[in-house]
Amino acid sequence: MENFHGELHANNELTLLKKSEENPFESMMQRFDVAADILKLDQGVYEYLKTPARQIIVSIPVQMDNGKVEVFEGYRVIHNDILGPSKGGIRFAPDVHLDEIKALAAWMTWKCAILNIPFGGAKGGVKCDPTKLSKSELEKITRRYTASMMDVFGEEKDIPAPDMGTNEQVMAWIMDTYSMHIRHTETAVVTGKPIIIGGSEGRKEATGRGVMQVTITAMNKLGIVPTESTVAVQGFGNVGSLTAELLSQQGCKIIGISDVTGGYYNKSGINIPEAIAYVQQNKTLKGFKGGDKITQEELLELECDVLIPAAKEDQITAKNASKIKAKIIAEGANGPTTALADPILKEKGILVIPDILANAGGVTVSYFEWVQDRVGYFWSLDRVNRRLERMMRLAFDSVYTTSKEYNVTLRIAAYVMAIDKVSKTLKLRGIYA
Ligand code: NAD
Repeated sequence: MENFHGELHANNELTLLKKSEENPFESMMQRFDVAADILKLDQGVYEYLKTPARQIIVSIPVQMDNGKVEVFEGYRVIHNDILGPSKGGIRFAPDVHLDEIKALAAWMTWKCAILNIPFGGAKGGVKCDPTKLSKSELEKITRRYTASMMDVFGEEKDIPAPDMGTNEQVMAWIMDTYSMHIRHTETAVVTGKPIIIGGSEGRKEATGRGVMQVTITAMNKLGIVPTESTVAVQGFGNVGSLTAELLSQQGCKIIGISDVTGGYYNKSGINIPEAIAYVQQNKTLKGFKGGDKITQEELLELECDVLIPAAKEDQITAKNASKIKAKIIAEGANGPTTALADPILKEKGILVIPDILANAGGVTVSYFEWVQDRVGYFWSLDRVNRRLERMMRLAFDSVYTTSKEYNVTLRIAAYVMAIDKVSKTLKLRGIYA
């Protein structure tokens, strides 16, 4: 059995090497294929799970501050809703495209399955540059996008959340626009809202807290002592900055950080609260004096125990994977490692905690927020954090056990677990004709 799975995995890795590594949906499917082979997934179920249930593209006309009308393109992809209402963030970025949203939606399906959250997977996006828009333009785009999605969104249907380029304020506008259309306030239609309008304690830092927890668990497995460890973090937004802060509170030395303006290195450790305060004042790390300037590549290739990619997709590729020196990679971002890089990291003995496990703290507390909104009773921060910790620990242990059972990486184990759960649910529910 073990031999069979080992051979199967090796053969699939060879196939992976022949495929392109630039398309995130393709990258997701390459891992899906390996897991589907291991599970001997029925061909019909395979086709069903690889195809998104719905893909919506809308035009968003907006009168800009200069009086001219600009038209933006918006997307929502519902990958699968077999486990429950679909759930997934909304990304505002100039280069966002449908294949990226399709991949992100599928990752949400797998993530919810691994964490045992009763949600399916979805993702949305608007092709725009939020850093170049005024607050009023951003609000108009958000409200018109929401109005176009009135048939899609719903607290029992499809529930958005923040992602790159969106934040609590954007979620508040979505909630308000949706509520205006249905003529009553509906807080549970979106998560990641400000606490004062039905958000949850602990949601803002939930993804970073989950990344911190799985990183410390992995360190324990490898015998790395957190207070003697060094960490590099790529991306200093919601996920990167809070992961860095929480790991530094655990005694880890954060020797490198970066954002879109470049990397910063300090072998004695960067003062993370200082870096966060700097970004709050200056929007980016540009000009930060708490470390020496390094390139994006140098940050990823730093000599350290843990590397946390927390920016965007396709950062660790077949080109740079062999140069990575970290012992653990904890994927705060979605899809930061390409499928072609996976076998190289495995060969080097690097323990990769895959995105669909490592960054699932966000959707877990989003689920808590949805539950609290629907019951109308709100939990303390302590209760949120305790429940989050328990769910992340359970998920990590299950993925770890599955990886031993099938003799595969944590990433393939996570896909095996998720696809197994969704396909079993599908079999029980059956295909409605
Ligand atoms: P964000 O917009 O708050 O921050 C993104 C950060 O990445 C910024 O600091 C930006 O400057 C930096 N960045 C962008 N391009 C970069 C590059 N080429 N090199 C280095 N840094 C770069 O976004 P976020 O919410 O922190 O999301 C980051 C990643 O985490 C995304 O992949 C997102 O899908 C994923 N994620 C987010 C959440 C969440 O709750 N926010 C949950 C799960 C996964």
